[in-house]
Amino acid sequence: MSTKGAFRVECPHCGESFDADFWTVVRGDRDQEVKELILNGEFDLLMCPKCEEMFQHEEPFLYIEPGRDLLAFVMPETYLEKKDEWVERMKKDYAPLRASFSAGQGLSGEPLYLFGLAPLSALLEADRDREEETEVLEFMAREAGLQLLAVRPASARELDIPFSIPMPAGLKGRAAALKAAEALRVRNDALPRLKKLIDALSALEGDELPFLKI
Ligand SMILES: [Zn+2]
Repeated sequence: MSTKGAFRVECPHCGESFDADFWTVVRGDRDQEVKELILNGEFDLLMCPKCEEMFQHEEPFLYIEPGRDLLAFVMPETYLEKKDEWVERMKKDYAPLRASFSAGQGLSGEPLYLFGLAPLSALLEADRDREEETEVLEFMAREAGLQLLAVRPASARELDIPFSIPMPAGLKGRAAALKAAEALRVRNDALPRLKKLIDALSALEGDELPFLKI
């Protein structure tokens, strides 16, 4: 589950210093409420016990969604000035934790190093859209008698394509996937990531599909 740690902070409004709890590890797949806080900008929002003003205070944390192969080190935006130093430190501090997650949960992708909450919430929003689009695509594919193959989440993000791709039953390979994707697009041209999938499949050479989950 997600875990918290206590840190001393100073109120930017009145200068009062006090201990506050911060998330150190967020399991986005298990703690929907915490994920929502990140998405709506209320994560690490504190209220000063003295003047009762609200303010945001960022501390580094680890964001994990094993099912989506997502492991991100999220650091305060101000750390960007000494980016390389902090990335090294995160690697070292979290190495044991990362090893346990990689071994037990099937996290295979490279960790991400993000500065500030904005890049994380942008990524989570894009994943949410991709998820919705994937559901529509999967529904259409099943109706058309197609099977579905899972895309590696990191590749889906990089190419901005759905989390799974359609494939005629019994077939495999790029040409068959392209044909299936084009057939679905004829039936629904309102899915931007299906269009991007067609572009990505068209751009590939040979019949291999390098972005599939093994
Ligand atoms: Zn205050």
